[in-house]
Amino acid sequence: MDRIALEAPAKINWSLDVVGKRPDGYHLLSTVMQAVSLADRVDVELRPAAEGVVLECDREGIPCDVRNTCHRAASRFLAEAAGSVRAGVRIRIAKRIPEAAGLAGGSTDAAATILALARLLPGAVSSARLPGIAVATGADVPFCLFGGTSLCEGIGEILTPLPAFEGVPLLLLKGPFGVSTPAAFRALSLDDLVDRPDTAGVCRAVAARNLAALSAATGNVLWPVALAQHPALADGLSALASTGPLIARMSGSGPTLFAGYADAAERDRAAASPALDALRRTGWFLASCESVAHGPREVT
Ligand code: ATP
Repeated sequence: MDRIALEAPAKINWSLDVVGKRPDGYHLLSTVMQAVSLADRVDVELRPAAEGVVLECDREGIPCDVRNTCHRAASRFLAEAAGSVRAGVRIRIAKRIPEAAGLAGGSTDAAATILALARLLPGAVSSARLPGIAVATGADVPFCLFGGTSLCEGIGEILTPLPAFEGVPLLLLKGPFGVSTPAAFRALSLDDLVDRPDTAGVCRAVAARNLAALSAATGNVLWPVALAQHPALADGLSALASTGPLIARMSGSGPTLFAGYADAAERDRAAASPALDALRRTGWFLASCESVAHGPREVT
């Protein structure tokens, strides 16, 4: 086998807390992440070593050089593999996940690239090394390797898998603006954290598959930062809230908002509501999806 195509799921954060800061400036997190069915497609093909890493992406504006997460992940993987095998790689990314959205689009593409290379070059890099390659590529990449539902701590590399919480009908709503995750963390004052979640309560609610309890326990310390930068987020959240979800919050550093519903019919009614339609007509992105219990997997 010399090529493989993987779908790479986006994630949302059911909750997000910051519990400290490392001397190197990285924030220490306590966040419950959830993979969702909105996914990019990543095609990976082995090429002669002389070709190096070549990348194409169907969305204008996404860098295709070393700034791309897949480029960095592939270069790291191939450097570690070089002791046993020398190869180049061609990667094609079909983007469906909005970028700079708090949905880990770049991170999940990188995770898919690592898993694809591990399948194409079996034994070249031990599977125990994959999380190390992942975290060196980006803080959300270790979660994205596995997907599903996890409590993520440290800078995102300490994962505690939680019981599968698949099939929750969701809407994702993103305004016509992006948020830089590093800038959002820089703007956060650790002495003055508000909207902190009860993370243990969030984990219990996930285990009980109880969205109402999850809503009561959740919080996102980056919400005030994002709201100060983009006051229109309040309009997005109240439009979602007006559709009667069991939970409506911001994902990660934003600006994507998500809402979870009791069933798919309610989610679909909400998607067609005048409040959300009005936002869509002014350039907001709206996607229907559901939570999933997996990470990147082969396109069948
Ligand atoms: P996170 O939730 O992990 O913070 P995000 O969803 O906020 O991530 P990304 O979609 O990863 O952010 O995009 C952040 C920036 O990274 C983009 O503006 C883009 O320039 C760059 N980038 C590099 N590689 C990719 C990729 N494969 N897909 C999307 N963006 C990428």
